Amino acid sequence: MNILRFLREQAKGYDCNVCGQNHSRSEIRVLGRLETAWIVRVTCAKCQTAFKLLVVVDDDHAAVSPVHEDPLAPVRELRRRRPAVSLDEVLDAHELLRGFDGDVRSLFRARRERLAEAESDTIS
Ligand SMILES: [Zn+2]
Repeated sequence: MNILRFLREQAKGYDCNVCGQNHSRSEIRVLGRLETAWIVRVTCAKCQTAFKLLVVVDDDHAAVSPVHEDPLAPVRELRRRRPAVSLDEVLDAHELLRGFDGDVRSLFRARRERLAEAESDTIS
């Protein structure tokens, strides 16, 4: 099944819920594929409003469902979780890189050796 052709045909039956333009001329782009499921983005040709659809294909049948996105979810996620890298760690890395003269490979080797030293310090 040609997923884009299928969606193009489906799109004719839908109008943009922002400006009312028929989706037959909207841009449809596949963002990702997972086994028999596609995530596609549809962008209205008139007002550029974009939304995502999850398309699940089972043999010759396809089910299309909207992907509901909470625009504030990433913000909430950031607030809930600690940042992956702290400011101190960024500063440490900056200090390390400023005093470092070599390629990336030796940088990581140097860091591993330093970690090994730190570990042996704690053991002894
Ligand atoms: Zn529109």
